[in-house]
Amino acid sequence: MHVFDLHCDTIARLYAGEHLDSLSGGHVSLDKLRRGGTLCQCFAVFVPWNPQGPQRPWMPDTPEAYFEGACAAWQRELERSAASLAPARTAAEVLENQAAGKVGGMLTVEDCVALNGHIARLDDWHQKGVRMAALTWNYENSLGWPNSPDPAAHGRGLKPFGMEAVARMNELGIAVDVSHLSEGGFWDVARLSRKPFAASHSCARALCDVPRNLTDAQLRAIGDAGGVVGVNYYARFLRPEAVGKGETTEIDDVLRHLRHMANVAGVEALALGSDYDGMDSRLAWGDAGGQQALAESLERVFTPAQAEQICWKNALRFFRDVIGA
Ligand SMILES: [Zn+2]
Repeated sequence: MHVFDLHCDTIARLYAGEHLDSLSGGHVSLDKLRRGGTLCQCFAVFVPWNPQGPQRPWMPDTPEAYFEGACAAWQRELERSAASLAPARTAAEVLENQAAGKVGGMLTVEDCVALNGHIARLDDWHQKGVRMAALTWNYENSLGWPNSPDPAAHGRGLKPFGMEAVARMNELGIAVDVSHLSEGGFWDVARLSRKPFAASHSCARALCDVPRNLTDAQLRAIGDAGGVVGVNYYARFLRPEAVGKGETTEIDDVLRHLRHMANVAGVEALALGSDYDGMDSRLAWGDAGGQQALAESLERVFTPAQAEQICWKNALRFFRDVIGA
């Protein structure tokens, strides 16, 4: 079964000088994606910028400089592995890559901190191949505020620049990603976005009550808008009792959330958003190379046609709707 995965953090390793064709020890490498049946993997540029400082020793002086470096690293990988990896910039291109026997890689962003109030930068991002962007990570930026355990903080909506960015992303064909965003910001996106929007890597709050997860009302709103939710494989978002580091995520944990999300948002809204290389959980299926075990297990809960929707068809439809091609 094909897999279209909405989020991984592997670009951080590429920025550090490693290469996709020789990565070891993490969840993702070119070989693992191939063995795991990956049709398309979203690769997020996550900008590890701490506005409260201090920055990590290897961090450039500005988030913009890191962003540029990470995009350059991604471009280098596309050239280096051109025989087996290809950019996915439209839904049609995802299928063309597959027909050519190549794994598709879609460039995405986690935290729009590098926009820093400059709307025209979105045009440059689009030019670089960015097709989805999470408005915030876990810090305030020029667009808005992140999720928070404090209800007042969680209720804060988008800033005026965040609203402007949503409108421009709609125009350009960059999907708005609400994972990590405050709930107030979420409802602003739901109200303002003229295109379907995504939560690239989030789970159901009804089953695991952490502010990074989505309430039933939020899940329903994503489904109503024609959007998708990529279920996150992080044990702490799946099981309330999984509070320690190195907990193992079982296939049943993921199935439980998918079943709930299907009941609330509709099966058309479900997708996979692993968070590979972005978490300290161990996965029962190992890494991307073993993900067919998870894909096949979906048929324990869903029909074969629904399992295909969840593994790749919904994500493909979503990007076709957002990008228009
Ligand atoms: Zn994340």
